[in-house]
Amino acid sequence: MLALSNADVGGVRTVVRIAASRIASVGESPRVDEPVLDLAGDRLLPGLINAHDHLPLNHLPRLEPAPRYCNVREWIADVDRGRRVEGALKAAVAVPLAQRLLLGGVKNLLSGVTTVAHHDPLYPELCELQYPVRVVTRYGWAHSLQVEGEAKTLESQRRTPADWPWIIHAAEGVDAEAREELWRLDRLGCLKPNTLLVHGVALGGPERRRLGAASAGLIWCPSSNLHLFGVTADVTELLSQGRVALGTDSRLSGSRDLLEELRTAARQVAITPTALECLVTSDAARLLRLPDCGAVAPQARADLLVIPAGMPLERVHRSDIRLVMVDGIPLYGDPDVAGALAPAWRWAEVRVDGRMKALEVSLAERLRRLDVREPGLELAAVTGRAA
Ligand SMILES: [Zn+2]
Repeated sequence: MLALSNADVGGVRTVVRIAASRIASVGESPRVDEPVLDLAGDRLLPGLINAHDHLPLNHLPRLEPAPRYCNVREWIADVDRGRRVEGALKAAVAVPLAQRLLLGGVKNLLSGVTTVAHHDPLYPELCELQYPVRVVTRYGWAHSLQVEGEAKTLESQRRTPADWPWIIHAAEGVDAEAREELWRLDRLGCLKPNTLLVHGVALGGPERRRLGAASAGLIWCPSSNLHLFGVTADVTELLSQGRVALGTDSRLSGSRDLLEELRTAARQVAITPTALECLVTSDAARLLRLPDCGAVAPQARADLLVIPAGMPLERVHRSDIRLVMVDGIPLYGDPDVAGALAPAWRWAEVRVDGRMKALEVSLAERLRRLDVREPGLELAAVTGRAA
């Protein structure tokens, strides 16, 4: 048991009590024998949800598109060519999968993300308890109509239970072909309430209205879109319907992390800080069918994020984060918060973007053992010892 007192939850100072991996209560006083951490007005949010990533593709350098693309097909061809012939990219994809997957997890954890919707096969490593973040496991997916073709796309959609999200890259481009993908999906019968299109850059008014009428949703990755196409999806109407979640995509085309993605999103559309936070918490949880994530509420998972008092999420950088907890287990944060929650031997001292932080020691040891190199994370100062 643990009680977090003086927590700012949605502008209200309250007490959040945690029992094992769940939130036991919000607003009830701590029990007499319960350890209490006084957050002194720091903001307590549900752990963030990154609605789109390709977890093994985050160690690669961001590739510069040249020239700017009209359709994702041109980008895929360039990436394939790079994998086959270009030195840096060819060497980068030779990095062992276990190392790449762990780096993808750490990228997300350090930015306050506790749940990731991974778009690719669900590798066994992503389902292990020791993986740093929760990965959505109940989902159906197809890469895109271009890559899979209509028959395989339809089969994937039909195989996916109606209460799981079915996720597909679509309308990723600025040409007529990209826009037409929505109507092709519609004709196939693939626009359902559990359908989530990733990108949707080419969607015009009629396409967006059709998506809304189908009660489907959009996973918005503005950094990647701007990088590849110079524009991003028009999300205004879908935002007002609560049908948008935010994703980073991989670093091959996307942002460094979800905090940076939030800043990019805030520059693209008029949105309040509260509504922006919903794209990575409650709206994302609803669209991804994760009923016990995305809220600080009784019985929700104790996936929690603490950030400095009064700070809107879009201003937070990963070195500002006070605490990240997954399933009630503190994994990353400031040394003073970490020290109050667990004995010193449970923590490794690390530097994140030049600032001293604490990282759960077995995770730090695994990063060192697998030689995972996350830019900005210095493990050299590891002083903890593995349990
Ligand atoms: Zn993607």
